[in-house]
Amino acid sequence: MATGRFAPSPTGDLHLGNLRTALVAWLAARSAGSAFVVRMEDLDQVQASTDHERSQLADLAALGLDWDGHVVRQSERFDRYEAAIARLTTAGLTYPCSCTRREIREAASAPHGDPVPDGAYPGTCRDLTAAERTEQLASGRPLALRLRGPGTERTIDDDVLGPVTALVDDVVLRRNDGVPAYNLAVVVDDAAQAIDQVVRADDLASSAPRQRHLAELLDLPPVRYAHVPLVLGPTGDRLAKRDGAVTLADQLTTGRTAADVCGLLACSLGLVAAPAPVAPADLVDGFDLAALPRAPWTLALEDLAPA
Ligand code: GLU
Repeated sequence: MATGRFAPSPTGDLHLGNLRTALVAWLAARSAGSAFVVRMEDLDQVQASTDHERSQLADLAALGLDWDGHVVRQSERFDRYEAAIARLTTAGLTYPCSCTRREIREAASAPHGDPVPDGAYPGTCRDLTAAERTEQLASGRPLALRLRGPGTERTIDDDVLGPVTALVDDVVLRRNDGVPAYNLAVVVDDAAQAIDQVVRADDLASSAPRQRHLAELLDLPPVRYAHVPLVLGPTGDRLAKRDGAVTLADQLTTGRTAADVCGLLACSLGLVAAPAPVAPADLVDGFDLAALPRAPWTLALEDLAPA
């Protein structure tokens, strides 16, 4: 069955930006008659993740967003990620990398050699000789595992943003602490959960071309992408705790209800004309991803102050 998903990292309470993305993901799935699942992206298994998971799920439910089946946790699926890594390795598509972040930054900005786009891996460990590999191993430095990417740009069609172009470089598949990397885990899980549409915040838009490439290498079906523009605080910066009532719990203590919050989010998405109380189920009819605003939404001071 066609399935949509919301995949938060359980590292804290969801803020209004996360809730807005969840609302869009839910509406996209429900308006298409798709199933909707929640996946906890807890690769780091930080100690507090169970508490955060509980509060995030409670907030989704309080807002009126329901999900199908049980909540999947990435921390319980390392064997699947390792199987995918083994497959890519057997195909000769991976290599160990001992670069530190600093080395990557410095190599990428070196005055000679090909210029490397911001944040891209400059290929330092890609083509080491056998002797250099032995030395790399002997150094005892922790090794990450990277994909041999094409090093070319790729464009995907985004249902909200339109064409999104980004470099498909040598992404990390397993981090140097042994934990599978985000890009790999997402691709493996989206396929395993039969996700056909990924809705998430647009800070991840440039990851979509890499993820499509990885899915192809693993013979997994392509997903459609819809990246939702970010929510900014009143100062124009990324929304942060110091901005005021940024979580649902904060909003409830200001005297607003979950339906008020849903109305505010719906209004910011152009789904209703004014921020009156509303339930997600009332927004399903006629929902259209292509009609969503493509610019970030800046919260007003009064949205974050007591009602
Ligand atoms: N876990 C990511 C986040 O919370 C979202 C990843 C995804 O949707 O692909 O930002």
